Amino acid sequence: MKHTSIALFSLALLLAACAKQAPPPAALAPKPAAQVDDARLAKADSEPQNWMVYGGNQQAQRFSGLNQITPDNIKDLKPAWSMDFDTNRGQESTALVVDGVVYVTTAWSKVYAADAKTGKALWEFDPKVAGPHAAMNCCDVVSRGAAVYQGKVYVATFDGRLIAIDAASGKQVWSTATFDPESTHAISGAPRVGAGLVFIGNSGGEFGGRGYVSAYKADTGEMAWRFFTVPGDPAKPDGAASDAVLASKAQATWFGKPNDYRGGGNVWNSIVYDPDFDQVYLATGNGFPWLRTFRSEGKGDNLFIDSVVALDAKTGAYRWHYQETPGDIWDYDSVADMILADLNLGGQARKVLMHTPKNGFFYELDRKTGELISAEPYIAGINWAKGIDKKTGRPIMNPLAWYDSRKQPFTASPGEGGGHSWAPTAFSPKTGFMYLQASDYSSARHVPRPTYEYVKGLDNIGTYHFTNHAPGQAAPNPDPNAPKPANYLLAWDPVAQKAAWKMPGLGGAVMATAGGVVFQGHSRNVVMGELVAYRADTGEKIWSHETPNAVAGGVVSYAVDGEQYVLVTTGQGGGSIIAGTPDVRARQNGRLVAFKLGGTATLAGDPPAAGPPVVVAEDFTADSVKVGADLYLNRCARCHGINAMSPNILPDLRRSAALGSKDAWRSIVEDGALQNTGMIAWKRFLPEGGAEAIRGYVAGQARVEAAALAARKP
Ligand code: CA
Repeated sequence: MKHTSIALFSLALLLAACAKQAPPPAALAPKPAAQVDDARLAKADSEPQNWMVYGGNQQAQRFSGLNQITPDNIKDLKPAWSMDFDTNRGQESTALVVDGVVYVTTAWSKVYAADAKTGKALWEFDPKVAGPHAAMNCCDVVSRGAAVYQGKVYVATFDGRLIAIDAASGKQVWSTATFDPESTHAISGAPRVGAGLVFIGNSGGEFGGRGYVSAYKADTGEMAWRFFTVPGDPAKPDGAASDAVLASKAQATWFGKPNDYRGGGNVWNSIVYDPDFDQVYLATGNGFPWLRTFRSEGKGDNLFIDSVVALDAKTGAYRWHYQETPGDIWDYDSVADMILADLNLGGQARKVLMHTPKNGFFYELDRKTGELISAEPYIAGINWAKGIDKKTGRPIMNPLAWYDSRKQPFTASPGEGGGHSWAPTAFSPKTGFMYLQASDYSSARHVPRPTYEYVKGLDNIGTYHFTNHAPGQAAPNPDPNAPKPANYLLAWDPVAQKAAWKMPGLGGAVMATAGGVVFQGHSRNVVMGELVAYRADTGEKIWSHETPNAVAGGVVSYAVDGEQYVLVTTGQGGGSIIAGTPDVRARQNGRLVAFKLGGTATLAGDPPAAGPPVVVAEDFTADSVKVGADLYLNRCARCHGINAMSPNILPDLRRSAALGSKDAWRSIVEDGALQNTGMIAWKRFLPEGGAEAIRGYVAGQARVEAAALAARKP
């Protein structure tokens, strides 16, 4: 069946080639590109040679119907080509492929079009993102992807613009601001399309402000509607599609006075358009500030944080919602990819939305009504709730989890990295399994702050960040008898509502294929990578290939001239910028890497070791170093690594040439000499002498690093 579609596709190309022998006068006209419309998207599964939307199809299943690559022949899967980007920052993009052309976004929201057979770049678009806006997000200037629709490529820039690009020429058609440039929002997510509209959300759940999603007319960029996911001042409605439901349902779940920063509910990752009901689903993030005592007098569900919200796609009118973590104070974003499927549950055909948010429960919702069908723990170790009450749909809370109102620390499991975070997930209609990266027994020790003062422009969540771990990493639990964290690829049976198999490993995005293979991106030593393949039915590891960069972006499959390719966007993701490693490497640009059976390309080697730490001769007083350590933790660690241990995705400051010069250091740290890279002028966030104190602390950490390297030399 699937072979047939490849064969037909090859035949079509052959006929096109024959036609070329007698060139018609129109041959010089630009070739139409990205002619993707709702009809084509609704039947995306009938053209498995393409990957036309972020999730592979409008159901976001990340399932490729191609079956040329199988467990039997996968040993012959080799690199076909690679294409280098011009940026070494975090890469999290899922590439799109339409009729032999790849469209991919990179860090700084740049877009490339490339020949899918050769990797030759066709055009590049640089929206020239405002460098200082990089400071408005936790995890580097990443972009998760573009959308293609009606001859245009849509990219949402990190600094808030939605831009339509002509897919054939790479030239801008229109651009519109989705938020004010001074806003604390940012955009890392991919736009989605449907019903003639482009949908885009934003991040900001650690920086303040209300989350919202906007819909723009795909042809002109005119705004069609906006939906705020959390309420503002009830006396001042927004004039938005959300006004009615915020007044009727959400306002009563918030307490205390609204202000210009409280909110959250940011839709920073998953948006899905459902052609079955002409509705769009939003997956919302945590509330802001994290502590409910500071945003809602310590009470209330705070709708619609940590929820799935269904809207009428054309008007943005509310249809239903399901809140997964009412009153969240544990950073349990509900932003994971939502997957739509038609499942037979208990003999009944149901149109289901599947969701695996950070809070550790696997939810199945009825897409028509929002009714909770099931909610089972997909990981072990959940301690904030004992389960989900199927009658009320509410979590059965552990009262100890309310660390803010109890004013007592609480070690929550899962931690703020979640049982699963944003890494793309897949569903195979062939096996009936959903595939995702998952973590058992991760934890975060939450320590409430007694008071709160909002500071615009700072990661400002109202609790102590990084108290004993790095987000996304296994956290040390103060209980010595606590089970050890465990990471694995999970195959989940959504009909039986239990795990089908688990394979240990720490990977990212997954893709399933009709050839019976599940592909997953991995990293080696944080910044180098590996693409790994498993049998979709049993989880047996059947293949892997090392890549110079980590594979944190999406894995997709497509076909050209009857050959199936597997394509990955490589370059470590932004979440790893704080992950320390004893083996720091030189910074390297991200790349697209394509594989096919019998491929003959050679990939670049692993990056060399980073240069030596800078050993500073000056002495800094112990008091000054202590001040510097505290400032570093609260101002610098988020980007440059906890304890100044950086994997050098953003610069490892222990190796910064500026470390040896008080003046050079001050001009960068205080005055913003490198603000175009995102290193803003920190003067307004530092006390007098703060930059020099930080230099003293980092210089000490550089000495520690130099000693560690010397001790390791033979
Ligand atoms: Ca969050």
